[in-house]
Formats: sequence, C-alpha cells, structure tokens
Amino acid sequence: MVDARYSRQSILRVFEPGDFDRIRESTIVVVGIGGTGSMAADLFARVGVKKLKIVDRDFVSISNLHRQILYDDDDIGEPKVAVAKRKLNRINPDVSIEECNAAFDASNAEDLISDADLVFDGTDNFTTRLIINDACVKLRKPWIYTSAIETYGEVKTIIPGKTSCLACYVTMPNQRQPVCSEVGVFPSVPNMVASFAFTMAIKALTGHEVSGDLFFFDPWKGDTQKLAIKRNDSCKSCSRNEFEYLDKKYSSLGIRPLI
Ligand SMILES: [Zn+2]
Repeated sequence: MVDARYSRQSILRVFEPGDFDRIRESTIVVVGIGGTGSMAADLFARVGVKKLKIVDRDFVSISNLHRQILYDDDDIGEPKVAVAKRKLNRINPDVSIEECNAAFDASNAEDLISDADLVFDGTDNFTTRLIINDACVKLRKPWIYTSAIETYGEVKTIIPGKTSCLACYVTMPNQRQPVCSEVGVFPSVPNMVASFAFTMAIKALTGHEVSGDLFFFDPWKGDTQKLAIKRNDSCKSCSRNEFEYLDKKYSSLGIRPLI
C-alpha cells in the first residue's frame, strides 16, 4: 500500500512500475543551498528520496531571504546547512538529511559525491561547476547544471557517456562573471530554474529519456530557448578524461582559477 504522503505522485501516469521505488532508494547531493539549491532540496525532500546530502559553507544573510525559500528572518547568521536540515526534516522525516558545512572543491569533490545517484548544482560560479563536472564525469554520476541571475537562468542535464558535458562547451572565462550581489536576481528565476531542473533530475534517476540540451529561461521577457549541445570530441573531460579541474589549483571557490 502506498504511503498517503506520496499518493498524489505515485499515481501519476508518467511514472512506470518501479519508478517510485527508485526515487525512494536514491541518494542526491545538492552542492550549494542558495536560491536554486533551496528549491531543489525542498522538492527532493517532498518527493521522498532516501538521502539528501547538502553542501554549503555559507551563513544565512538578510539579502538571501527574497528568494531562498528554506530560510526566514529567524535564521539570519546561522549556517545554511544547519537551518536547511532542520526545515527539510520537518518537511519529510522519511528522508535522511546529511549536512556538510564546507566549500565543495577539488580536494573533497570525489568523496562528497561518491555515494550519489545524482548531483544537483546549486552553485553560483563556473569554477565549482567545472569541478562538479570533472568529478561526475570521472565517477560516471549524472548531474544537473543550473544557473540563475538577473531575470534569466539555464539548466542542462549531464549524463556521462550519454550526453555532452559542461566542459564540452564551457571553458573557464577569462573575465569575471556577473554575480547576484552586483546585478541582482528576480525571485522567481532560481525557483523556476530549480523546479525545471528537479524534473530533469527525477527523469534521469528513474531512467526516463532526458535531453542533454541547454535550456534557457527568461520569465520576465517570457522567453524560452533550447539549444542542442553536441559532444565535443576534443573535450578534455568527457573525451580525453583529463580532469584538470580536479587539480588542486582549482580548489578555491573563487570565480577565477588560481593560475
Ligand atoms: Zn565533455
């Protein structure tokens, strides 16, 4: 008999026999529990995964509250992972929450994702995303790239051996990238991006066909685009297995590599 908690999802026609069991057995690692990571962690808890590992070194600040749905005014100054664990436990006590109050970097990336069935990117910089990419390609873990800034965001599913990876089309930018503290982010954007990305994650976890396309959304403009990203035969990560971002010189969470 299906638990009443999950009764509205287990009867979905898009689910095949065994899909719900697969979700209930899954371990998800959410790297960065800010705007997109909060929304994704909330949904992963509600859908009832077995284990949710949340990784972040930040503390809740008042400027987070207009968009990061796991936090409220009483949480200011507390470590994000501690607050998130408390709230996620309340949302669904069936889910085991593991908090990791640390920066995700080249020194711990492989350890942190070693037990993951899927990795969700809730970070805000390409240094960390390229480290996630290398670690996931090396250990053959599916992962979902997300970004949200100003009024737009992006999502891409990466399934090693099947889709293109992030390094197939992204190289470390020479110029500093814009950040939310300077250009802002509209509150619906990270939540919309994360909700779409979560859907891709559940499809990937349950073995449904998932596109490796890059999805772009600008809800303010009402603009959506889908861009096919082919595998790059000379990609250092997924073609040549040269995992340069797992090198210690990229171990900082800084925006640019330390070279
Ligand atoms: Zn690649």
